[in-house]
This record gives sequence, structure tokens and C-alpha cells, in this order.
Amino acid sequence: MMKNRTKLWIIMLTSIVFSLILFIWLTTISGNIWNKGYDLNTLNAISQEMLKAIEQQNTYDKDKIQPILDQAHHKHPDLRFEWLASDGSMLYDTSGEIQSYDFKQLADRFINLPNNLWDVNKPITLAYSTSKNGQPYYLFLSLSSDAMKQGQVYFFVRTIKALYSWALPLLLSFLVPYMLSLLFFSSVNRRIGKLNQALNLVNIRSDVVVLEDKSKDEIGQLTRHYNSMAQRIRSQADEIEQFENGRKLLLSNLSHDLRTPLTMILGYAETIHTGSYNNENELKTSAKIILQRSRYMDKLLDQLLDIARLDANALEVHLAAHNLSEMMRKIVAEYMLFLDEQSFSIEVDIPDEDIHVLIDAPLIERAIRNLLDNAIRYGKDGHFLGIGLVEEGDYVCITIKDKGRGIAPEDHELIFERFYRVDGGRSGEGLGIGLSIVKEIVESHQGHIRLISTPHLKTLFMVRLPKNQ
Ligand code: ADP
Repeated sequence: MMKNRTKLWIIMLTSIVFSLILFIWLTTISGNIWNKGYDLNTLNAISQEMLKAIEQQNTYDKDKIQPILDQAHHKHPDLRFEWLASDGSMLYDTSGEIQSYDFKQLADRFINLPNNLWDVNKPITLAYSTSKNGQPYYLFLSLSSDAMKQGQVYFFVRTIKALYSWALPLLLSFLVPYMLSLLFFSSVNRRIGKLNQALNLVNIRSDVVVLEDKSKDEIGQLTRHYNSMAQRIRSQADEIEQFENGRKLLLSNLSHDLRTPLTMILGYAETIHTGSYNNENELKTSAKIILQRSRYMDKLLDQLLDIARLDANALEVHLAAHNLSEMMRKIVAEYMLFLDEQSFSIEVDIPDEDIHVLIDAPLIERAIRNLLDNAIRYGKDGHFLGIGLVEEGDYVCITIKDKGRGIAPEDHELIFERFYRVDGGRSGEGLGIGLSIVKEIVESHQGHIRLISTPHLKTLFMVRLPKNQ
């Protein structure tokens, strides 16, 4: 493929040649159309023809010459012919003015010849000489400058200097604009080249090449678009990488988290199956453990399903008016049954009156349960569980509180991210999914979740939801 620069050079050279040809051709045509009249060449030809006829005469007397001059005058009425002897005495004049010239007048007509050429008021005179028997004679041809061809451009190049005088300026006048455009073009080329290079380097793994281009033209715009695109690719690549890492972590956690309970289930089921338990109590314990572990696995699988659904962007929210205080009381009652009241003190602060809120009840219930599960699981050494609901104008605020080990400030943001678990997570039992689901549910209700945590004093998750959206 031809480089742009080469293309420009070719275009430039051909257009110079073409414009020159066009220029000459057009001026000749326009001259022929608008420039009627005699030019020097035709005048010379006329006089040469006359001189030839004159030279054929044996004497140069008036009666021999007169018919020749008259005939020429008849043919070219605009031209005046004079026939002079060498002393300036007039032999014949087609204008009828028989007049003799003295030397000064004669000289005047010759000297002023070049100046006369374009002066409208003065006639133009051309003089030709011939001789007979050693005696010189002159033929004067004159015409008014109106009768001359006006303004025709002739390209007579007789000397190198003449060439300089018109060809160089002409060439320069062609070249300067081209040079300027070449300059402009090469700067454009350079900028595009830089862009090209940078685009070539765009890669998910490599660092972003940021280009500087402050100009407001299209290339400047393109450069800015490139910059933002490169940055976007970079951040998306980071996101993908983060996500990828999360997935890897999830997979390893999952295999571990599923295998541990499964090993227990298999062990106890084996005991039951082979009847190798000692008494009824042991049997019951085995069954209880199997039940517990199975429930846990069921829950993990549920969470996995949630993640899969969220990935498919299928968190569909079906809003309906629900009595939130009643819903929460039901959940709390269930948890109270399950919790050992000896080791947990439970504080419930839910208003007696109905609080109707526009929510997707199963989703909100899932969020509350996730928070409660976490408070019990991670905050159990605080032996406290608080659950509250307050109305705040157009909002309701759900609070879940524990007094456990809490969450370090640097983790406050992170725990809401998918797969994130404090200290890599081996301390907990989950997959690092729970809170991210809670957050997505809350945000899909146009609400938000906040966390305040002082270890062993108060770890508080607050969910604020609008009553009507
Ligand atoms: P998981 O499914 O592993 O519980 P979550 O997203 O629910 O994941 O929680 C993320 C991390 O946040 C947990 O690993 C845990 O360390 C921390 N965390 C969550 N809730 C509490 C809490 N009430 N007290 C202390 N740590 C908590």
C-alpha cells in the first residue's frame, strides 16, 4: 500500500503539471476568443510579403510602389503604410498625408516604439528597410494600439533570464500552497502514526499508552476517544481479572466447603447404615448432624444458584405492598426457636403497628436472613443479637446488630464484594457471597446498606429502603 506521503507527492507533481498545461491552454483559448486584432507576428508577415513584392520592382519610384501599398491598405484598412526615402522624404502614404520627416521626427518614432506598444493614444509604428542601388528605403507600418491584439499571454522564452522572470514566480506560486499543505499533512500523518502505534499496543495485559493531543480537530478527538477507550479496556480488564480471581477462589472454597460436610455426612450415614452406633442417643445425634450438614450444603447451593442468577442478570424485582413489621416479627420468631436463648440475648425493636412498604418480599426476607445468619455466625462470641425496624419519613430502616469480633474499617467496603471473606475466609463457613447478594437486593429496591462496627461493642448493619418507589 502506498504511504500517504508518497500519494501526496504524486498528487502534487501531477497537479502542478496539469495546472500548467491547463493554464497555457485556457489562456490561448481565451485569447483567441476575446483578443481580436493584429499581433506582431501577423504584422511582420504582412510587411514581409509587401517587401517581397516591392523588391521585385526594378525601380522604387512612387508609381511602382503605390499600388502595392494601396492594395495592402485595402486589405487591412486599419493599417497605415508609408514609403520613405533614406533622407526622410515621403514617397507615398496610404493616409494621403504626404509629409516628410526630418531626422529628429524619424528618430522619435523609432525611439518611442517600445513605449508606444500599449499606449492607446499613440499609434504603433513598425519600420522595415530595404535598398536599391545602394540607396536605403523605409517601409513604415502603423496602426492605432486599439487595433492590436490586447493582453494575449505569450510564452516566449528567449533567454534563461526570461525563464526565471516568469517561470520561477509561477512555479513558486504553485509550490507554496503545496508546501504548506505538505507541512500540514505531514503533521496530520505524524499524529495518526502515533495513534496507530498506540492502538497497536492496546492489549489486555499491557499498560495503557496515554497520548497527548490538545488540539480540537478530528484527530484530537480521535486521540481523546482512544485514550478513554484504552482506559476503559484497562479497567474492564482489571475487572475481568478480579472476577476471574474471584471465580477461582470460589471454586476452591466451594470444593472445600462442600467436601467437609459431605465427609461428615458420609461418615455418619455409614454408621447408621452398618448399625455400628451404641445407643438410640448416638443414632439421633448422627441423624441430627447429617441433617445439619445437609442443610448447610443446601444453603451453599442456594447461594450458588443466586450467584448464577445474578450473573444472568435475572434479579427480577416484583414489587408489592407488604407489612414489613409483620414479616420481620415472623422471621424473628423463627430464629428465636432455633437460637439457644441461654447463650444469646436477643433484643427486638419492631413497632406493633403495620408498616406497609413496597418491596419484593422474598428478596427482602432473604437479605434479612443473610444478615441475621452472619450476625449469629460471625458475632456469636458477643452473645447478642439485635433486630430493629424504624420508620424515617419516606424510608424504613432495618437494623441487625451483634457484639462480636466486628469488622475492621479497611474491610467495610470489601465485605460487600463478591467472594470476599475476611482473612481469606477460612474462619467462616460461607463463600463470601451473602453480603454481596444483600447489597444487590437492597440496591435493586433503590435503598442502601451501611455498616458501623466497633469490635465486641457493636456491629451494626443498617438497611434503608424507600417505602414507595
Ligand atoms: P459468607 O457467605 O462467607 O458469610 P458474606 O458476604 O456474608 O460471606 O460475608 C463476608 C465476610 O464478612 C465474612 O467472611 C465475614 O468475615 C465478614 N462478616 C460478615 N458479617 C459479619 C459480622 N456480623 N461480624 C463480623 N464479620 C462479618
